[in-house]
Amino acid sequence: MPKQLLLLCLWCIALYGVETDFDYVVVGTSPLSMFEALYKRCEGHRVLVVEQATECGGAWKSLTICGVPNVDLGCHEFGQDLAVRKFLEEYAGCNIICNAPLSCQSPPTKEFYPSRGCYELIHNLEYLLQTSGVILWMNCKLESLFLDTDREIAEVRINGARYTTRKLLLSNSSDIQIENPGVRDMYQAKVQTYPHLYLLIEDPTLPRFTYKNLGVNGASRAMNLTPFAGLEGTGKQLISFQLHKENFLDLQDNYLEELKKQGLLDPSARILCKQTYIYKQVLLNRTPLHQLGESANKILEFIDTGHINHMALHLERWKRVMKPWKNAI
Ligand SMILES: Cc1cc2nc3c(=O)[nH]c(=O)nc-3n(C[C@H](O)[C@H](O)[C@H](O)COP(=O)(O)OP(=O)(O)OC[C@H]3O[C@@H](n4cnc5c(N)ncnc54)[C@H](O)[C@@H]3O)c2cc1C
Repeated sequence: MPKQLLLLCLWCIALYGVETDFDYVVVGTSPLSMFEALYKRCEGHRVLVVEQATECGGAWKSLTICGVPNVDLGCHEFGQDLAVRKFLEEYAGCNIICNAPLSCQSPPTKEFYPSRGCYELIHNLEYLLQTSGVILWMNCKLESLFLDTDREIAEVRINGARYTTRKLLLSNSSDIQIENPGVRDMYQAKVQTYPHLYLLIEDPTLPRFTYKNLGVNGASRAMNLTPFAGLEGTGKQLISFQLHKENFLDLQDNYLEELKKQGLLDPSARILCKQTYIYKQVLLNRTPLHQLGESANKILEFIDTGHINHMALHLERWKRVMKPWKNAI
């Protein structure tokens, strides 16, 4: 072993007790996980982020729909927290606009959205991870993990290779397999699916809504993604529908008529292209992990990713070490 590497190992052992490949392994790339990875890196830790998909973002990722690139996976809302809005502008470089053109005027609302949709936030976060020195492995699944409670480290298996880390950061939807005897057989995760229908529509008029709770014919909500996907002024509108079940995916004509009935599309509007996408989330089951006792809590860290505005709980901590966007680029 070269002398410098040996010295580095000894320094790590002196600092952390046990030599590990990483200080933190973060599972998944939804926005809160990415911000937290960035925070850990800004604190000086060696951070690995693993993402099994080909794109970052989790439920906030973007897709190519009917040939239109960087379209939001589904219908989203950021809530109305002004501190979150300001943080997204100042620390993630987002150009924030109002989320509902009509209701912005009457009644007034504080709903907001990045001007280029989820893509803008996730793209900027990916840039920050890369430039800050976070190691990001895409297309890589964390296949399983062993919690070594004696040494207080985790061993993780990624693409067949094993790595060690002092801490593992999990979100609500980290899909993990536990190798520890006793826990392995108890661990059963719940899978949830979210079917989405996208319609590219010919409509010469301006978009009349952005976000809408539909509550009809198996569709929970709809989003007119036209302004965020850069389609304004093209005579085309791109609308996504979040559905309760897969068997509603063929009801495109009903949804078109419903939007016309509600005055949200021109009566002449017609479908140019239809596409579907089913997002799958595996919900983390924390109960069996309690079997491993207190020492497992020293290795595992959880971030509650239930809603994006949970960011509000972390802003002050993140701001202490993160650089504002204008200094980071
Ligand atoms: C369709 C949909 C719409 C939503 N809309 C909103 C909304 O409008 N506003 C809101 O605040 N919240 C919304 N949510 C809630 C949303 O779940 C959270 O905002 C947030 O995305 C949850 O983050 P997460 O990390 O728990 O899960 P996800 O966003 O699903 O991200 C998990 C990520 O981890 C990766 N991953 C999992 N296991 C592994 C592994 N073993 N190895 C490598 N990678 C792994 C997955 O590929 C995925 O990219 C929505 C959720 C869905 C499904």
